[in-house]
Amino acid sequence: MPKLTDRFGRTIDYLRLSVTDRCDLRCTYCMPEGFHDFETPDHWLSFDEIERVVAAFGRLGVSRVRLTGGEPLVRKGLPELAARLGELAEIDDLSLSTNAVQLARHAEALHAAGVRRLNVSLDTLDPARFAAITKGKLEKVIDGLMAAKAAGFAPIKINMVVMKGVNDDEVEAMVDFCLEHGFTLRFIETMPMGETGQAASDTYLDLREVRARLEQRFELLPGVMPGGGPARYVQVAGSDLKIGFITPISQHFCESCNRVRLSVDGTLYLCLGQEHHLGLREPLRAGVSDAGLEALIREAIELKPERHEFQDHPGQVVRFMSMTGG
Ligand code: SAM
Ligand code: SF4
Repeated sequence: MPKLTDRFGRTIDYLRLSVTDRCDLRCTYCMPEGFHDFETPDHWLSFDEIERVVAAFGRLGVSRVRLTGGEPLVRKGLPELAARLGELAEIDDLSLSTNAVQLARHAEALHAAGVRRLNVSLDTLDPARFAAITKGKLEKVIDGLMAAKAAGFAPIKINMVVMKGVNDDEVEAMVDFCLEHGFTLRFIETMPMGETGQAASDTYLDLREVRARLEQRFELLPGVMPGGGPARYVQVAGSDLKIGFITPISQHFCESCNRVRLSVDGTLYLCLGQEHHLGLREPLRAGVSDAGLEALIREAIELKPERHEFQDHPGQVVRFMSMTGG
């Protein structure tokens, strides 16, 4: 199998695929309120185009694909796309990041399509606070999570962006919730993505503080999580609960970065925190051959920068997280 390796010796085997830049929530740190400047669907890759790109990545050694967004479940026909990608021989790990608002309706179809691993954003267990952070209804998310559990997804990871003075008092409650339901828990530091992420920077909390707090109540053993990505994991002694800390700001993890991101308009972004990119939509629509597509992907990988610069240049990223998919 040919490998995609970048200038810094990192092997790229993971593609994050943003299937829409729209969302049915408005998380304060992510999607601007009144944000209507969406790419028109004409500019979105069709399912055929997405499948071609993913197949090309597969031939180049990428075996893991995550569907994300925006909110992937607002893209019409998502389970159908998942099934098509799940049938590609080279892709052996298909996963989904979702806010779970519409998950109850789609959980079974997605599981049948071959999606197994699920990441669900959940920052609070308090309905009023949930509404304040996301403009949505907590109840739907909980229904979605329970439907996913019943459908057999494993692991189900809860992603909680921990914000000082907003939800940091709920860290222990979220641990209890995940213990009760057998979910994995991941805490995330706020990143200065787009204006919204930059505005949320004053609620930034160094997760080392959260970890120290948890150590007062739980015994935390060193843990590992297969396919765990950038999170550093611990295991809560006496339980199956794994807790991950995603610390792009306080302890960046760029040296082990294994991923690139394809936005819904067919732009390949080489780093979440940098602008380096290469457009695939035009060549696709101009009839590029499979070999030509693979050559373009290899060319793009050459552009992958060594690291993000959230800390040195926090004002530089103009993209919202919803464009390139977290
Ligand atoms: N809508 C889906 C969801 O919420 O899981 C998938 C896309 S969302 C952009 C992916 C992840 O990015 C979520 O876990 C969300 O909490 C996180 N995210 C968005 N903006 C962020 C920011 N400024 N800092 C840290 N995490 C952020
Ligand atoms: Fe939507 Fe996910 Fe962004 Fe929240 S984090 S606004 S759910 S895309």
